[in-house]
Amino acid sequence: MIKITNLEKIYRTEEVETVALDKLSFEVKEGEFVAVMGPSGCGKSTLLNIVGLLDDPDSGSFIFNGVEVAKFTERKRADMRKKNIGFVFQSFNLIDELTVFENVELPLIYSGVKKADRKARVEEVLEKVQIMHRRNHFPQQLSGGQQQRVAVARAVVNKPKLILTDEPTGNLDSVNGNEVMEMLTELNEAGTTIIMVTHSEHDARYSHRIIRMLDGRTVTENILV
Ligand code: ADP
Ligand code: MG
Repeated sequence: MIKITNLEKIYRTEEVETVALDKLSFEVKEGEFVAVMGPSGCGKSTLLNIVGLLDDPDSGSFIFNGVEVAKFTERKRADMRKKNIGFVFQSFNLIDELTVFENVELPLIYSGVKKADRKARVEEVLEKVQIMHRRNHFPQQLSGGQQQRVAVARAVVNKPKLILTDEPTGNLDSVNGNEVMEMLTELNEAGTTIIMVTHSEHDARYSHRIIRMLDGRTVTENILV
């Protein structure tokens, strides 16, 4: 599904050049659940932004579903992103002014799904993450665990093939954190590919494989299953 070869990303300011990704290479096959670990500043978020088609690399190859996307324009990236990728971040990134239902409905509006279909799809995922009873609440009226469940619902409502997640349990206690990890595991078992950046060895054990990064490169890979 993903084949990255010699990927480079360099941030330049007037004074300094930071090599965030230094000829990074790796592959993720469809259906895998991969954890990416490494110290702060090693390039994990930069990598996730590129894999998520939010940003483009300076050089190297990125093949996504058989298509070379490294040089895609912003518009083409957005199009491919909407069709294929769901995101779950550490800070749930819900829109405070929208209800739970409306937050989860938003990606469907962006991709042009009709109103009646939207209602059915939103209700289905809200049931799945067990938050239907809070459908008319606003994010601030929910606990952290509930907010993250809404964020997961929003990420999966478009039925993405790939879920990218950056520290999904970072703001949660262990009970809610484990619940989110169980949800990701279920999605993966249903066929969704998952790439998860994490600092938590505990969370990483839910994955099949850990890619360890240092200074913009992968250093080791541990196969877990
Ligand atoms: P991680 O997520 O592993 O902590 P990042 O991908 O956020 O690492 O950052 C990798 C390196 O790139 C760091 O040295 C960071 O300071 C630098 N960096 C990240 N984003 C930017 C940016 N927008 N401008 C300049 N430097 C950046
Ligand atoms: Mg980061």
